[in-house]
Amino acid sequence: MRAITVFLVSFLLMGVSHAAPSEFYHKQADKFWRVAGITNDANEVFCYGLVNRKDGAFIEIHRSLTDGEVWVGIRNPAWNLDPNDKGTMTWNFYGGGQTASTKMNFSAQDNKTIEILQIPEKQFFDFIAASGYFTLVLPNNQPSVSFAFQNRGTALVSAITECVAQNEGKYGQAAGSPARAAVGQTAGGGGSLKEVDEQSTNAQPAPTDGSLITSDGRGLRFSYHYLPPTDAKFNSAYQWAVDTHLFSTMPEIDGMDGIFVLPSRLRYIAMQCGHVNAFYATGKSSVILCYELIDLLEKVGRALSKGMANPDAFVAEFVRDNVRFILLHETGHAFIDMMQLPAVGREEDSVDQLATVLLLIRGNQSKNDIARVLQLASTWFAVLGIGQNKSLSAGEFSDEHSLDIQRYYNILCIAYGTDPDEYRSLVSSGKLPQERAQRCPEEATKVTRSWLRLLAPHISPFLRNKVPGNAKDNSGGEQQSNPLEWNGKSNPFGG
Ligand SMILES: [Zn+2]
Repeated sequence: MRAITVFLVSFLLMGVSHAAPSEFYHKQADKFWRVAGITNDANEVFCYGLVNRKDGAFIEIHRSLTDGEVWVGIRNPAWNLDPNDKGTMTWNFYGGGQTASTKMNFSAQDNKTIEILQIPEKQFFDFIAASGYFTLVLPNNQPSVSFAFQNRGTALVSAITECVAQNEGKYGQAAGSPARAAVGQTAGGGGSLKEVDEQSTNAQPAPTDGSLITSDGRGLRFSYHYLPPTDAKFNSAYQWAVDTHLFSTMPEIDGMDGIFVLPSRLRYIAMQCGHVNAFYATGKSSVILCYELIDLLEKVGRALSKGMANPDAFVAEFVRDNVRFILLHETGHAFIDMMQLPAVGREEDSVDQLATVLLLIRGNQSKNDIARVLQLASTWFAVLGIGQNKSLSAGEFSDEHSLDIQRYYNILCIAYGTDPDEYRSLVSSGKLPQERAQRCPEEATKVTRSWLRLLAPHISPFLRNKVPGNAKDNSGGEQQSNPLEWNGKSNPFGG
C-alpha cells in the first residue's frame, strides 16, 4: 500500500495552514502490542497495530481509513531476501494448538522486509483474535519468524476496531469500493450531497467474459466518482467538481479514455482525504484528488489574482488548469503501475514530463490555451518554490520530487523545446535561462519520443494509426499589468 504522492505541500503561501501529521488515537493493546491511528506524511490515514521484538523484527498490521484496505509490513533481521522477491508464504496461527493456516502473496521491500497487500479483513482478524501467537513461513529456506500476544489476539483486534470506529468517515472511503456508490444515496448530516458517478456518455460496458477490450474496440473506460465530503467546508469544492463534470471535461483525460488496453478500469475519485494531496493509489487503479487540494489552490489563486479586472474568473481558471496538470501527473503514475512500464530515472520527473507532453499534443486546443495551462501550472510550482530556495532541508533534497522550482523550469523547458518559435518569449523574457534553453529542443524530443514509445504498445490494436487532429490557433498581443492576467487569446508567455 504505497500510494504515490504528488505534492508534499511543505511550504504554503500567505499563511494558508495545512494539516500536520497527527497521532489521533493511541492504545496499548497488551504488553506486546500497541495500536495507533496516524496520518502518514504523504497520502493515507490508517489505524495500525505494531509489535517490535528485541532483535529488531517487527510487524505492522494496517487498516486504512481512506479506503478500508488491510495490509501488513513485516521485518525480520534474519532474512536475506532478494529485493525483487515475490511469492507465496504461509501464515500459521496458534491458540492452544494450531488454529488456522493461510497462504498469502508477499513482495519484498528490501532484503529484510516484506509487504502483504489486500488481506481479507474479516477472516484475517478472526484468525488473529483466536491466536496466542503466529508464525510466518517464507519459501527458499528463509528463517521463519513468530510474534506473540500476551492474551489472545482479541485485545489487538478490538483496539484496531475501536480505532477504526472512532475515526472512520473522517477520511472518506472510496477507492476500494466504488460499487457502493449508489446513486441517490444522501450523505450523513442531513445535507443533500450525493455520491455521483460518471463515465463518458459513449462508454461501452466492460465485457462480462473478462476481456479487456469493449465491443467498440476500445480499452476499459475510465470511471469518475465524486464523493460528498464529511466536513461542510469542502462542500463548495465537491459541488464545483460535480457541476463542472471535472474529470470527464479534462480534454487529455477524455482524449485518452478507451485508447489504452488496461488490466482494469482506471478510476478518478474526488474526495475529502484529511490532508492536502492528490495521489495514485497503487494496486487500486485509482487516481485520488482531495478536496483539500482544490481548497488550497483556490486560496493561492485568490492571492495571485490581486489587482486583476476579473479575479473570480482568474481563480476558476487557476484551480482548473492546475488540477488538469496534477491529474495528468497522477495518470502517469497510474500508467507506470498498470502497464508495468519500465522506469529509468526518477518517476516523479518522468510523470511531470508526461503531463507536459500530453498537454503539448493538445488535440484540438489552441497553442495559446495550452501555453496558458502550462503557465499557471508552472506558476504554482514557482509559488511553492519561493520558500525552498531560502533554506533547504535534507527532507527536501531527498524528497522523491524535484524541487518545485526545478519542476517549474522543467515544464518551461519542454514547452520551449517542443516549439522554440512559439515559445521564444520564454527565453527573451528571461523566464527560461538561455543556457538551459539551448538544450531544451533535444530534451523535449527525447522525452516525447520516450513516452510515446512506452505507451504505443498499450494502445488498443483496433485504434492504432489514428492520430489526434490539430487545430489552428489565433494570436494577438496585448500587455497587461498583472503578469498572470490574460486576454484569452495571445500567448500567455509573451511580453
Ligand atoms: Zn507524483
